Amino acid sequence: MIIVMKPTIRPSDEEVATVAAVATRQPSIKVEVRHIEGATRSLTEIYLLGETAPVRAELFEGLPGVERVVRIRERYRAIGRHEGRAEAVGFDYNGLQFTQDTFHIFAGLCAVDNRANIEATFKALQSVGIHTTRAGAYKPRTSPYDFQGEGSACLPYVFELAGKYGVRVVAMEVTASQHIDEIRTALKASGNATGVMLQIGTRNAQNFELLKAVGSQNDFPVLFKRGMGITLEESLNACEYVAASGNHRIIFGLRGMKTNLGDPHRNFVDFSHVPVVRRMTRLPVCVDPSHSVGKKADGSDGLSDIHHVSAQGVVAGANMVLVDVHPHPALALCDGPQALSLEELQHFAEDLRMVRETYVRRVELASKAKARQRIVPTEPNEVLQLARASIDNLDRRLITLLQHRGELMKTVAAAKVQVGKPVRDVAREEAIFESRRLWAKELGLDRAFVDGIFEAIVEYSRGLQSTDAPTAEPTLTSAG
Ligand code: PEP
Ligand code: MN
Repeated sequence: MIIVMKPTIRPSDEEVATVAAVATRQPSIKVEVRHIEGATRSLTEIYLLGETAPVRAELFEGLPGVERVVRIRERYRAIGRHEGRAEAVGFDYNGLQFTQDTFHIFAGLCAVDNRANIEATFKALQSVGIHTTRAGAYKPRTSPYDFQGEGSACLPYVFELAGKYGVRVVAMEVTASQHIDEIRTALKASGNATGVMLQIGTRNAQNFELLKAVGSQNDFPVLFKRGMGITLEESLNACEYVAASGNHRIIFGLRGMKTNLGDPHRNFVDFSHVPVVRRMTRLPVCVDPSHSVGKKADGSDGLSDIHHVSAQGVVAGANMVLVDVHPHPALALCDGPQALSLEELQHFAEDLRMVRETYVRRVELASKAKARQRIVPTEPNEVLQLARASIDNLDRRLITLLQHRGELMKTVAAAKVQVGKPVRDVAREEAIFESRRLWAKELGLDRAFVDGIFEAIVEYSRGLQSTDAPTAEPTLTSAG
């Protein structure tokens, strides 16, 4: 159970102490107070941990300073939305806002290789108005013989150049807890020239000690990437480790799942989970098209698969796109085939900004449509008009269906003649009347009414077959 306090309440306020005192009087309940400095509001929440089922919400609802009481449905209690009752607050970091309503493109090197490539990349980013990047210093590679990243050696020039070209946040994967200290030290030495978002890679999605390490510091926000071989639910629970350890500034990243069913893509693209994660968690959602697709193959329409899947994530509400670029993709030491060139960056950014606008317009349209659906006419004249319009539509459909049935009748008659069968088949006629009566009964329609309609239809068929099916015996009829 979460007791959400009103926006003005701080953890040290008396109102929080009162709620905590009432909570601790309940048998076997532990209390934890959390403060979230959100992008749009700050939030103090009191978590009741333990056997909360018998605890009545009314105990807290009337207390001073309490905004609402949320019963926890999901196991990931801190990042979960609990069916929309916990809001997505997001966070501010280094002058930028990250929420479920914002959008950022983090374009950069999969792996930092040298100063010149970092400088060329940051310069290109600046020229297209992007202030967020990725730069892999510590690379988790499948083979120990592959390039493992420059490690802490590259941090000084990465941070210095980020400052020079106005990069505000660098997403950087950490694979061991000491990397956090190395980053903190180098960043400080650069005079905090930029900001860093610590990335948890898919291979470490369930490295619980590393998750606790990034969770128990509050200098840097965290980009958590889903595990490539575990369920979404398992990834959400793993991500909860970060929040449960105290760091609520988290972005949840989708990057595809490991299965050959996604071939020829490197991973099975999972961006259909964007709305799911937005609905289930309070976190902004990131998509990584590069590691999902794995290859910059051009499509028949001039747009690469990287462009297409990015657009699919963004049009569904992704708040961040993490994408590999490189000044010389063919020479990249890691993941070159999936990197966009710097020349391609401007088009990529323009394309995604256009798609993002479409998403925003889709949300507006949905909200207008919802509002329209809520307006139910109550004025009798309006009801009469609307009902008559619907009846006209239905009758038109009925007539279209009858016409279609007539065409089928002719086909049936012609086929029977071809195989030498009489056009009239009494048994079939009987079966038709019987089955229509049954269907009518299921819907509560009167038997005589339905019989009457089908008699008319059969009569009509006779007429049709006598004029359009000259080979049929004129005295014979068919119901189809
Ligand atoms: C990366 O972003 O550099 C990376 C290795 O991604 P993932 O962990 O999703 O494979
Ligand atoms: Mn990579």
